[in-house]
Amino acid sequence: MPTRAARHARREGDEQLPPTLPWRFPRPRLFLPAIIALGLAAFFWPARELRSDNFVLYLPAGHHMLPLESVGSAKYLPLLQILNAVGKVGGIQEKKNSLKVWFGSTQVELRPNEANVQAAKESFELTQPVHVTDGQWMVPLDFLTIVLPHLTHQTVEYQQGTNRIFIGDVKPASFTVRVDPIANGARLTVQFTDKVTVRTASQNGKWVMFLGDHPMEPMEPSYRFDSPYLTDLEFDDQDGLPKLILSPGSAGLNFYPVQAEGGKILLADVVRPPSVQASASQAPPGSAPQAQPTGPNPQITEESPAAPPGPPLPVVALDAGHGGDDTGGHSRDGVPEKDLVAKYVARVRAALLATNQYRVVLSRTGDMNVSPEQRALAANLSGAVCFLSFHASDLGTTSPRITIFTYVPPTAVSPGGPDPVRPAFVPWGDVQQVELAKSLQLANALQQQFAQMNGVEVDVPATAPLRTLRNVNAPAVGIELGRLAPDEDATAIENPAFQQQVATAVVQALAGFATGGN
Ligand SMILES: [Zn+2]
Repeated sequence: MPTRAARHARREGDEQLPPTLPWRFPRPRLFLPAIIALGLAAFFWPARELRSDNFVLYLPAGHHMLPLESVGSAKYLPLLQILNAVGKVGGIQEKKNSLKVWFGSTQVELRPNEANVQAAKESFELTQPVHVTDGQWMVPLDFLTIVLPHLTHQTVEYQQGTNRIFIGDVKPASFTVRVDPIANGARLTVQFTDKVTVRTASQNGKWVMFLGDHPMEPMEPSYRFDSPYLTDLEFDDQDGLPKLILSPGSAGLNFYPVQAEGGKILLADVVRPPSVQASASQAPPGSAPQAQPTGPNPQITEESPAAPPGPPLPVVALDAGHGGDDTGGHSRDGVPEKDLVAKYVARVRAALLATNQYRVVLSRTGDMNVSPEQRALAANLSGAVCFLSFHASDLGTTSPRITIFTYVPPTAVSPGGPDPVRPAFVPWGDVQQVELAKSLQLANALQQQFAQMNGVEVDVPATAPLRTLRNVNAPAVGIELGRLAPDEDATAIENPAFQQQVATAVVQALAGFATGGN
């Protein structure tokens, strides 16, 4: 938030001279034709030159959008709509050359084409004259700052040049913006002055970040970036929904927004995707070839059965651990964890889709190394009802064996203090912590189903500080399969029949979980 002094300075700096008005003419003999021309201009002008926008009045009880009329650089609002938004109009007396409005205990009087307004027994001078369009009494914007406070006895906060005003006890949040280079991309950091819940969408090749219904007053209406990955960031609330609109520098970039610091920071990585996209091990048996994603969120691969009527199907997010140069663990005969767990994910996905009850989102769509934040993001952006992360490791001598983990925050703080790479963003949001009870329900439902499988040992659900689960905004569990160890063969968990049993058990557990009051 700029201080009042800063805002005042800004106002003076931004002050625009009134446009050169056409009724000043150099030579008197042009006067009469000029009057006729003006009359014609007044007749045709509104249709051609009036631009319609919205102006938002933010009040403690909510916001009101008013149609904004621009005449040249002057902006006008309908008087009665302003008064009805901020209070109650008690009566109107309209004459050919004047309008009297009773508002609360005061009276407002104005005349067409005059800049003088009588209100609350005082006289106020606006910078532009009042005018009447289609029977509507229009007042210039500075009516809000010059006259309105005397009618409502409430403060107004208005930043010159913007299309929003804050009236009374409304404390708008603001934000700062920064862009830093990262490998293969750029990181946008938006730091808010207050906690904000961000929802993202893509529209017309741009990324839109909705900022909830928290009133916002941006320091700048838009930011331009000197980056091949990001062109500009624009703030907009013209439809009453405060939002940031981010324009990518080119097509085909991936966008990974993540919230941190409990909603005070939004990090958005914009990166060029690696050329490696597909892995044979990821495709489930008998599935159609996967379409190459084209939208700005190609990381998020959402699949659903042929659209059934009724409400949208719940989304299940499946996460195959590791990938790319991060192979995870491996067995004695060299089976890497990343490939093994991808097989489980492929089978679970196929089993879920076969029910026609779910859509499925994969956190990675091939053999690629995806960060924990990006995996969580895939789930969060899709509105997933749950997140299942598959891993394999050494769970002791018994095999096959399954342990289900829920998230627990790390207890030890690194002795070196905050992460030196990103000191501003530690600690992270830990959104999973509010989901822990449901995550445990999910873990228990899975454990019960796994325990009914033949010849498998299933542990009581445990907790672990799994980074992948930390930022997931839904019930989330890690499913660890054993035994995958360098001194053991992994035959038991490589067995396709066992993998299919696991997939079936997951489907049954989710059905029970969903009906168990979720
Ligand atoms: Zn692992």
